[in-house]
Amino acid sequence: MRKRIGKRLLAAAAVIMAAVCLFASACATAPRKNTAAFFDYFDTVITLTVYSNDAALVKRAKEEAEACFSRLNALFDIYNEYEGVANLASVNRRAGETVKVDPDIIALVSAGKRYYETTRGALNIAMGAVLKLWHDCRTAAEADPENASPPDPAALEEASKHCDIDNVVIGEGELTLLDPAMSLDVGAIGKGYAADRAAEKLDALGAPFMLNCGGAVLTNGKKPDGSDWIAGISDPAGEGGFIAEVPVSGAALSTSGSYLRCFTVGGKRYGHIIDPATLFPAEGTESVSVLVPGFSAMDADALSTACFILGRDGGEALVSAFGGASALFALPSGERAYTSGFPGR
Ligand code: ADP
Ligand code: MG
Repeated sequence: MRKRIGKRLLAAAAVIMAAVCLFASACATAPRKNTAAFFDYFDTVITLTVYSNDAALVKRAKEEAEACFSRLNALFDIYNEYEGVANLASVNRRAGETVKVDPDIIALVSAGKRYYETTRGALNIAMGAVLKLWHDCRTAAEADPENASPPDPAALEEASKHCDIDNVVIGEGELTLLDPAMSLDVGAIGKGYAADRAAEKLDALGAPFMLNCGGAVLTNGKKPDGSDWIAGISDPAGEGGFIAEVPVSGAALSTSGSYLRCFTVGGKRYGHIIDPATLFPAEGTESVSVLVPGFSAMDADALSTACFILGRDGGEALVSAFGGASALFALPSGERAYTSGFPGR
């Protein structure tokens, strides 16, 4: 009897030891969470989270992501030109001429033309002339809030005559703005395009990651422990909390709102997303978040801006016609509206 108990104790001890060893080795190999932040690109803060114990891989991930954002930020910049690069600022300055450009500019502008069609003109990257007037007023308002004012409606009307997307002609490695008074503004999609390119590079390294570029979040699958990456959608009322916490594993989520980049005149808030139909800031929603499966940060970015302009009804129709996408609309009444497929609806 005593002998049998002894054997049982030994067997139990062996099982416990095996479990302890397994736990210890799991702890030793569980991928570590590494983070990096970049502050100099796309006028926002970009954060990268990578799970890996391989220091060389983590270093490479940070370097490759930063190199990608740095290069595309320079190419897509509409305000500054850089030595030896023909970027969008060069294209705008040389409107009326044909300019040789990088394939990433061609790809972005081609996508912009496609979004013009899918959004029936709500998203128009050729609206630079109008957007510049709003941008200048916002910059002036930040410097001198007391004397802030919206653009003169007559100036907006005049600028709107120079926003025809058909005057953006894409050639073999070159771009021509046929109207010398027109300009491109890719603020609605450039960041998303860059996030997709960075994600492709990061995915090739084989480690789970999350990229957070201002309002756009992108991941390449689940976390190493099998749980979902979660992205919080900020409360547009500015209370500091989240209105939703959304699983974004293997997907991209983008939020557009007017509560961050805006200025106020006589108590009225003017946002940075402009409705081409009125030439004034869109006002139907407080924020719109769009979730798209895959490395689709640009689609999510384009759709969230377009839905913000189109409002709940037009936005719902746009998202449902777009395979796999779903949206959350935060309405001024405080109500939330979801399209089918949005997590937690
Ligand atoms: P954020 O840059 O704050 O993430 P969005 O992705 O929604 O916001 O894009 C807003 C930017 O898009 C504006 O700052 C402006 O540069 C540009 N934009 C505003 N209205 C339009 C429009 N109707 N069509 C195309 N681009 C627009
Ligand atoms: Mg956008």
